[in-house]
Amino acid sequence: MKNYDGVNDSWGTTTIKVLFQVWQYKGSMIYTVGGNCKGLEALPHDGTNILENVETAKFNGMNIIPFNNDWFARLNLTTENGDTLEYDAKSEAEFENMIVGIQIINFEEENKETKIELKRCPLCGSTATVAEVKDYDGSMVWEVSCDACQNAIDWSFETEAEAIKAWNNLRHEPHA
Ligand SMILES: [Zn+2]
Repeated sequence: MKNYDGVNDSWGTTTIKVLFQVWQYKGSMIYTVGGNCKGLEALPHDGTNILENVETAKFNGMNIIPFNNDWFARLNLTTENGDTLEYDAKSEAEFENMIVGIQIINFEEENKETKIELKRCPLCGSTATVAEVKDYDGSMVWEVSCDACQNAIDWSFETEAEAIKAWNNLRHEPHA
C-alpha cells in the first residue's frame, strides 16, 4: 500500500489477501470487507469466516468449493509449472493449516463528512451494516441490520444518513 492511515478509526473498504499452500502447490484469494473496521479487526478470525467470502472473492492459481457433506472445503491449488492438486480439507482445522499468509493489501477510506459511524447492535453488541436494498415495491431504500443476530431497523429510508441515524438511536431505546 502506498498510503495507509494506521492511526485513526475510519470507515472504508479493506482488501484482504489470503495465501494457501500444500506442499509445492499454492494459490491466493482476495476479497473485501466494508464498514467501520480496519487492521486486525478486519482480518478473518477463522476458516469459516474466510469461506463466507468465497462467493465474492477473486482467486489466483486456485479455487475453493466450500461446505459439503464430505468436506469442509475442496481446494484446487497449482504449482508455478501449472501442475494442479485437488485437496479436500475434511475439517476447519485442516483448512486453517493451509493458510500461510493473511495481508491487507488495500484500504479505501470513505468520505468522513457524509459518513457517521454505525453503533453496535443494541441487542447483541455485534457490528452492523448499512446497505441499499430493494423495497417491497421495487424501489431502492437504505436499511441497517446487525451482522450477527438479524436485528434490523424495521423501516427503510431514502438516504443512508437517515438509516444510520435511526439505527444509532436504537441504542438508547432497544426494542425486542
Ligand atoms: Zn445483534
